[in-house]
Amino acid sequence: MYTKIKELHLEITNQCNSRCPQCSRTFGTTLEEQPWLTKNPNELSADEIRKIVFDPALQHIESCYINGNYGDIVMHNDPMSVIEVLAERKLHSIRIHTNGGAQSTTFWKELAKYSPKLMVYFAIDGLEDTHHLYRRNTRYDVVMKNARAFIDAGGKAVWQFIKFEHNKHQLEEAKNRSQEYGFRWFEHTMPYNKKELSFGISVKDKNFEHSYWLGNKGNEKDIDNPQTLQDQYNGTKPIVKRMHEVTPVQFINLVNDSPIKCRPKDDQVLYIGSTKRVWPCCFLGGRWSRTNDMDIEQSSLNNYFKEYVEKFGEHFNSIEHYSISDILNNLNNFKKIEQDWNTPSACGVCTTICSSSSYWKTKEKKKEYVNESK
Ligand code: SF4
Ligand code: SF4
Repeated sequence: MYTKIKELHLEITNQCNSRCPQCSRTFGTTLEEQPWLTKNPNELSADEIRKIVFDPALQHIESCYINGNYGDIVMHNDPMSVIEVLAERKLHSIRIHTNGGAQSTTFWKELAKYSPKLMVYFAIDGLEDTHHLYRRNTRYDVVMKNARAFIDAGGKAVWQFIKFEHNKHQLEEAKNRSQEYGFRWFEHTMPYNKKELSFGISVKDKNFEHSYWLGNKGNEKDIDNPQTLQDQYNGTKPIVKRMHEVTPVQFINLVNDSPIKCRPKDDQVLYIGSTKRVWPCCFLGGRWSRTNDMDIEQSSLNNYFKEYVEKFGEHFNSIEHYSISDILNNLNNFKKIEQDWNTPSACGVCTTICSSSSYWKTKEKKKEYVNESK
């Protein structure tokens, strides 16, 4: 899969201060944090990141971004030390994706010294009265104070705005504010890679009681209702939709007919998660995390992961046991994943997430939004 790795994707913590309703950490019936995340906080330390970025196998990386599935950099125990290490590595660019709702203004001011190489993407989904409806547990005024402290100290920032039914009327005002406050640019995206949230999600309070609806008020459905999830699949992932309509054999044929577009392969990106495991992407890393690191039986991908463990040993991709060079050598640069794409044993994540129908379209769409917003 890899010839020359050019970019590194790090998820440095699995903890987050926010509880966004569509996030993997909260997605489900209660919309609260999934218990396995509360029980298993983990992170990559600056020392571990130093070993990673200075490994000879990564000698060609030019950029790094901090994002992932479950965590936000603001919840890392020492985020500044992580950025210091990345700066030491003299990369061309470093990107951070954050809700910006924690850490002090002193932190954000200090962080600005790493710009212009460092760009921070702040997720600000509305204004004073709407931002917190999706980015739950964060406050517009706090995020804006942090973002402006960063910008005013010379930091390069981007305002990312997810457009929902409840905030779409504020798009122009947000864009105007982004220019006034000195954000480099403003980009808006759609919720969970969709044109619109076509149904309402019931956001619950701590007692699991209905608190408010998110999404299309005229078409409210409860996330507890399996039909809601089915509708979501129908709207976003044609191959999954078809999986529900065909026999297993027909499904395998569909998989074989649906070419897979793999961004890590095309762009030569390597992912390392807070579980200290190396994967080509956060999709696989995220699924592995949910196995509670070694409780493979509980994973929906158990057979796929089991094959790796049986063939290469239980620590096959752990940076606590091997260097990045050794991991990539032992796994032959993740060749197996690619070899399986056109066979019935293809990885379920690759087939459902990266069949030609979904991810690539999103990437093109994103470019469109960025251009439109400039
Ligand atoms: S800020 Fe990001 S990681 Fe945190 S809950 Fe929201 S989407 Fe998830
Ligand atoms: S899920 Fe599979 S195809 Fe998709 S990015 Fe990851 S490795 Fe590539």
